Amino acid sequence: MNLQKEITLLPQPHTIRLERWRGTSSRPVKKTGKDPGGRPDEYRIELNEKEILLYASSGRGFQYAEQTLHSLEKKYGLAFIGMIEDYADIANRIAMLDLKRVVWKKEALLRHLHELAEWKINCCLIEYEDKFPYESLPEIRHPRAFAREDILEIAGYARDLGIELIPLVQCFSHWEYILRHSSYCSLREKTGSMQQGCPLNPAVFQLFCSMAEEVIALHQGIHSFHIGADEARLLGHCPACAEKMRREGKTALYGDYLADAIRFINGKGLHAFFWGDFYRHHDHLPQLRGLQCTAVDWAYSEKSARVKQVCFPRIQGNCAVFGTPETAVYSRFLLPDPETQTLFAFPHRKIVEADQIPVIGAGNITTPENILAHVTAAVECGSPGVIGTYWASSNSLSMPYSVYELRKSGTALLGAAAWNCAFEQQEKNTFFERFLQHAETKLQTPEELKFLHSLEHHFASQPGIPEKIPGDNPVSMKLKMEQSLAKFQHARFFDRQSYDFCDLSHLFNSTLEFNTGNHKCDFTDETLSFLPPGEHACCGIAFLLKHRILLYGRQCKATPHRENIRCNLRKCKAVSLIQSAVGGSADENGKWGEFRIRYADGNCYCEPLIQYDNLNAWYQPLPGRRVRIAVMESPRPSLRLGLHQFTLLNPFPEKELEEIELESTSDGVIALAAVTMISPHELNPELPDAVNTVDKIRRDMQKCGSSMERLLFSEVGDASAKELTGIALDSMKCQIDEMEQLLAFCGKNRGGR
Ligand SMILES: [Zn+2]
Repeated sequence: MNLQKEITLLPQPHTIRLERWRGTSSRPVKKTGKDPGGRPDEYRIELNEKEILLYASSGRGFQYAEQTLHSLEKKYGLAFIGMIEDYADIANRIAMLDLKRVVWKKEALLRHLHELAEWKINCCLIEYEDKFPYESLPEIRHPRAFAREDILEIAGYARDLGIELIPLVQCFSHWEYILRHSSYCSLREKTGSMQQGCPLNPAVFQLFCSMAEEVIALHQGIHSFHIGADEARLLGHCPACAEKMRREGKTALYGDYLADAIRFINGKGLHAFFWGDFYRHHDHLPQLRGLQCTAVDWAYSEKSARVKQVCFPRIQGNCAVFGTPETAVYSRFLLPDPETQTLFAFPHRKIVEADQIPVIGAGNITTPENILAHVTAAVECGSPGVIGTYWASSNSLSMPYSVYELRKSGTALLGAAAWNCAFEQQEKNTFFERFLQHAETKLQTPEELKFLHSLEHHFASQPGIPEKIPGDNPVSMKLKMEQSLAKFQHARFFDRQSYDFCDLSHLFNSTLEFNTGNHKCDFTDETLSFLPPGEHACCGIAFLLKHRILLYGRQCKATPHRENIRCNLRKCKAVSLIQSAVGGSADENGKWGEFRIRYADGNCYCEPLIQYDNLNAWYQPLPGRRVRIAVMESPRPSLRLGLHQFTLLNPFPEKELEEIELESTSDGVIALAAVTMISPHELNPELPDAVNTVDKIRRDMQKCGSSMERLLFSEVGDASAKELTGIALDSMKCQIDEMEQLLAFCGKNRGGR
C-alpha cells in the first residue's frame, strides 16, 4: 500500500513510498555517505527489516533526514518499510526577522530560530537595527540592545541549526533609528526628516562602514550581507545632491553610493544583497556591473504568480492590464500568456535580470498567498532563493504591526512551499490546519490564523472593525470590545443645541487638493475631495464640514504657523477638532504642534499635539490613544485617507473663554476641517445604551489585558510588552472614560434606556 496520501509532514517530502510493517523490534539508524543525488539538500531514508539507512551528501542533508524521521515517528510511529526521497525546490529559503521597534527576548529569538530549522529554512536575514551592541556608536544602541555575548550565542546557535545568518544594516535609507539622535542630525539629507542620510556626505558612508564592520565581526563564517537601500525617497534634496542629480541624474546619485557600499561588503569577502525597489522606476544600475550582489524584488500585494493586472509604475495609471496596447510594449517583462490571459506578477524581476544583475523575490509573511506567489515565481524562474519578510513596523518611529509569534505561520509556509512547492500549491487550503498539527503555537483554529493574517495591525486600533471575529486570543478579544463600542462611532450624545460649530470660513486657506492661494501642493499628490460637506457626528460629537480647509504648519510657505479661532460660547465643557497631519513630519518626540485654550482672565491651557495620542496622519489613518477616525475613504486598493477627531474636555469649564489657538511646532503641516464647542443641554433620546456597554467593556478589558500579557511576556521584553498592551487597550480605556465624563454632564441618566 502506498501511504503517500495518508502521511503529511511539514514540509511535505517529495516522495514517500512506505508500507505498514508488522515487525516490532527497534532498528538501528545508520548514516551512509552514498550520494542520494545533487538537488539542494537532497536526502533519502530507507527503512528495511534490519535497519534504517539515511543517505545524504552534506551535514544539512543528514540533519533534514533525521528531522523527517523524527516527525514521522512523532506523528505516525516508525512501523514502516519503504523509502522517502526528498530535496528542496529552492536552494536558499530565507526567513527575515526584523528586530526594530520592539525588544525581543533572546530566548524567544532562539526558539524561533529552532522553528525555522524545523521548517527546513536554511537562511535567516536578520535586521538588528538599534538592538545591536554597537561599541563605537553608543548613541545608536537601544538601552535594551543585546550584549555582545548574546549576538555570539545567537550566531552560534543558528550555525548549529544549519541556518546561515545574513545580517542587514541599512546603508543610508530608513535611518530613522540613527538620524533621530541630535548627534547625527548633520547627516540628514533633509533637515526635517529622519528617513535618509545624504549619500554625498562622506560621514554617512563612514558610519555605514563602521556599523557593518562591527556586525560582521560578530558573525564569523557568514557568506552574505544585506545593505538595505530601499525607499530612498529623499534622493536629491540637499543642495549637493540636487546639483549632482541635475548634472548626472538620479541613477548616478543612487547607483554610485550603492556601488560603494557593495564594494565595501565585497571587500570583506561577502556577497551583498540590496532591496531592489529602485528598479521600479529605473532600468539600469550600470555601476553594479562586476560586483558580487543580488537585488531583492520585494512586492507584497501580489497574491498569485500569474495575474490579470499588476502594479507597474512605468505605464499610466501604474497598473498593467492583460491585453492593453501599453502592456504589449513591455511584454518581455510582463510575459503575457494568451491562454490564461494573465501577466507575470513580478515584472520588476525581469527588469533587473535584463540589467544583468542577479535577483530574488521577497514576499511578506503577513499574507500567505503572497508568500506562495513568490515561491511559485521563484521555482518557475529557477531562482536560487526566496525571502519571506517579517516586519515589526514600517520604520523605527512608527506603530508596531504585531509580534512575530502571531505571524510565524507565514514563515512556516515559506519553508514548506520553498521545499515542496507543488504540494503546497495543491494543498493551499489546508495549510493552516497542517501548521496547527505540526507547530507549537498559541493559536487554536485555522479560522483564527486566517483572520489574524488578514489584519495589518494586531495591537493598534483597526481603521474598520471586521464583522466576524473568530477565536479567543487577546487580539480577537480586543476587537470584540471595539466592535461593541463601534455603535457609538457615528452617534450624537446630546441634542443639537449642545453643539456650537466655530465659523472657520474666513480662515480657510486651502482647497481640498491642498492648494493654497497660487501655490500648488508639494507634499502630496492625494486629495481630501471625498470629504462629505454637511453635518456629521463622531463618537458623540457633531461637527460641520465645508468645501475648504485650514492648513497650518511650517513646512508650507503659504500657510500660517499659528491660527487663532474665535469662540461664540462664553463657556464650554469640551472642544472637539476634526484634523489630521497631512505633510512633513513631527519632531523626534512625535510632536506636531500645540492646541491652546485662552481664557478671558489671561490664563491659557496648552495641549501638545502628539502622533498616536491626540493627532494622527491622514495617510493610512489609524485611531490613536485619544484620537478617532472621523471620516475615511479608500480611493484605491491598499490606500486609505481620512481625518481624525480629538475631543478635549475643558480643564477649566467655569472660566470664560477668549479664543482657541492652534500652532505647528514641527516641520509638519496640519489640516483643520472643523471645530465644535460642546455645552451639553439634553441627552439625545435615540442614543444606544451606553451604561451597560461601558461596564461590560471595563470587565472584558481586564481579561484581555492579562491574556495579552501572557502572550507577550514570553516573546518581548517587559517594557515592550507593556507598550504593546497599552497600544491595544489605552485607546479604548480613554474612549470609555471620555464617554462617561461627557454623558455625566447631563445628570445621572448616562444614556441608558
Ligand atoms: Zn545630499
